[in-house]
Amino acid sequence: GEPTPPISDAHRGPTGVLEVPQRFLMGPGPANAEPRILNAQSLPLLGHMHPPFLKIMDEVQQGLRYLFQTDSKYTLCASGTGHSGMEMAIANLLEPGEKILVGNNGIWGTRVADMAGRFGAEVVELKTEAGTSFSLDTLTAAVEKEKPAVLFLCQGESSTGVHQTLAGVGDLCRKHNVLLLVDTVCSLGGVPLYADAWKVDAIYSGSQKCLSAPPGAAPLMLNDRALEKVRARKTKVRSYYFDLNLVGDYWGWFNSRSYHHTGMTSMWYAMREALAIVAEQGLESMWERHEAAHKQLWEGLSALGLQPFVEKPEDRLVTVNTIKVPEGIDWAAVSKNAMDKFNVEIAGGLGPTAGKIWRVGLMGYNAKPANVELVLAAFKDGLRQQGWELA
Ligand code: PMP
Repeated sequence: GEPTPPISDAHRGPTGVLEVPQRFLMGPGPANAEPRILNAQSLPLLGHMHPPFLKIMDEVQQGLRYLFQTDSKYTLCASGTGHSGMEMAIANLLEPGEKILVGNNGIWGTRVADMAGRFGAEVVELKTEAGTSFSLDTLTAAVEKEKPAVLFLCQGESSTGVHQTLAGVGDLCRKHNVLLLVDTVCSLGGVPLYADAWKVDAIYSGSQKCLSAPPGAAPLMLNDRALEKVRARKTKVRSYYFDLNLVGDYWGWFNSRSYHHTGMTSMWYAMREALAIVAEQGLESMWERHEAAHKQLWEGLSALGLQPFVEKPEDRLVTVNTIKVPEGIDWAAVSKNAMDKFNVEIAGGLGPTAGKIWRVGLMGYNAKPANVELVLAAFKDGLRQQGWELA
């Protein structure tokens, strides 16, 4: 028969109840979650096809329509973090050999280009310097030259702190029969977005930033144009898990409900609660709160003599703020001091900005005056330790 050796204790797992430190997550995400959302996650599990659970999924879809400002029926949460929304959008919207024009002004364009290539798309990258956004003229010229099937833009480039305006881009895409795909992982709920009015065809986002939920759900939206493309594909979507023809049927897109994968029960409770908070607060007040936190931060940082990495004020992202590391200052020591002494996470750069900047996230539950004051206190203390002359 099968051998039955003694059970190995070499890798016996942890025991005892888990404890974690309380921290202020003021980097580019995850942000701290609303306690009410964390509480929702401890509610009893339901079966993934039980009517009360399907009702929660419906509520999530409705909440997403408000959040995206769309009348589209086609909203859902991908099971996974922001990357799952990214991968789902790309896997579904492009057939092998089709062209995607990727606006690349930081790490997210780079990743979308990589992903689209893996799904067999022809990738053309449109690049601009880190810390800048794309002008409508630049986008128009590139779309006219490349005639892509899909144009990708990142509304909130969290590696550089750049806000990409979408003004006029939707019209440009309609004119040339291009689908417009936008990443809103670190901007949705923090800055204005009007999916229908701005003619954005597909959007994905994340749960752990301005929505104040834990990481693990990726809000996604397709409008009718985008869905038609997915329904009319000549080739099967190359990912079973992310095939919207199948996932959409679990979310009731096609007027039935069939099991595709087990819904992420507790995560979707969290999203339901996050979206209830959005509906209760109202988008306008959320956007204003984020804007106010951003202003407060920059008043304080300017008083310390620090400068924004993003030159043009209109390009500055409200939710992820990027700050130049002054010459002679050890950025990592400032971040370490913030964590050690204040329990505050202040992140460094990423990709093109590594070593050059700090990044401060003001998102969701964390976009409030007390948190901004804490970040400013941590900067002041850390800089003073390095002999920085406070302005
Ligand atoms: N896009 C942007 C703009 C992001 O900021 C992030 C997360 N930092 C992602 C995509 C990826 O999301 P996740 O890490 O949740 O997979």
